Amino acid sequence: MISLSGLTKEFPGGVRAIDSLDLEIADGEFFALLGPSGCGKTTLLRTIAGLEAPTSGNVSIGGVDVTGTPPGRRDVAMVFQDYALFPHMDVTANIAYPLRIKKVPRARREARAAETASRLSLSGLLARRPGQLSGGQQQRVALARAVASHPKVFLFDEPLSNLDARLRLEARTFLKRLQRELAVTTVFVTHDQGEALALADRIAVMDAGRIVQVGTPPEVFHRPAGTFVASFIGSTPMNLLPGAAQGGALHVAGVVLPLPPGVEDGPLVYGLRPEYADLSQSAPPERNASFAGKVAVVENLGTSYLVTLDTGDALVQVVVPEGPPGTGAPEPGAPAWAVPRPGRALLYRDDAL
Ligand code: ATP
Repeated sequence: MISLSGLTKEFPGGVRAIDSLDLEIADGEFFALLGPSGCGKTTLLRTIAGLEAPTSGNVSIGGVDVTGTPPGRRDVAMVFQDYALFPHMDVTANIAYPLRIKKVPRARREARAAETASRLSLSGLLARRPGQLSGGQQQRVALARAVASHPKVFLFDEPLSNLDARLRLEARTFLKRLQRELAVTTVFVTHDQGEALALADRIAVMDAGRIVQVGTPPEVFHRPAGTFVASFIGSTPMNLLPGAAQGGALHVAGVVLPLPPGVEDGPLVYGLRPEYADLSQSAPPERNASFAGKVAVVENLGTSYLVTLDTGDALVQVVVPEGPPGTGAPEPGAPAWAVPRPGRALLYRDDAL
């Protein structure tokens, strides 16, 4: 549905916001662009929308090259972070605005605005102006405006980021359901890895204007292509410890671990998610293959704790589920062992091994 080839955008002053990027997004797909601030997500979305002209390369939508086509004729609807509603228009007029631009007759556009508003639970608010709505309601009006125009493509630029944490989760579920129902190809920009994992069929992780990995949520979570993706994805950051393969064994932070077959000797990075280690408060049977240390920090995560273990050589984090009622959290200063679960570690040199 959307095809980008050799796409580059340079701003005056030599900033290369997008760098020779190739990407195919399928019809009906919910596709997330994920990356840290400044990696070029918004510029890429605006280039797909036609709000930025690429320095080189092509954008096609539905098999048609639209590189030189103005935004109004690309049949895309964009929802911005600040919603960009018209403050002097009521909800009906805001939702119907793109239809007015398309010269849909008044009665038809008002009927479609009312029908879309009802789908988004806005029926009681049609006569209000944006200033009289909560953030969540404004967000739904912005979505309704996109939905009512029946575009080929939705482009969302962090549309949930102005909502508080709770409303944001509700809006996320709602958005996912809506996208499933409408089956409109959607490109969603976010810097929130949890949002991308929760919403998307596929995710492109971006760094410095380039795509470093494209994959389904389980692929980018379980098989991150490099340490950048590994450190970016996951609600608690992955442990990434310098180590070495030597004589058929893996040496990491003073511990000798079994080395998977086929890994050549040399320095590497050992990656282990805090969820994929168990914390033992007495010497475990696998103590030779465990990180021994002292509990340095305990953070309460609700139904679990994030425990930081200081081994003397490294800090190792472990997510520890809460015990039975009455049992407390691990005590700072206490000796403890982080026992890696078999088969869960990832090894990196320049890329995944
Ligand atoms: P954020 O999550 O902070 O919005 P982003 O990933 O969306 O970041 P972009 O807004 O696309 O990043 O910016 C990418 C790079 O291009 C940044 O270095 C930014 O400073 C630069 N940039 C963006 N817009 C312009 C502009 N109009 N003129 C010059 N440089 C720009």
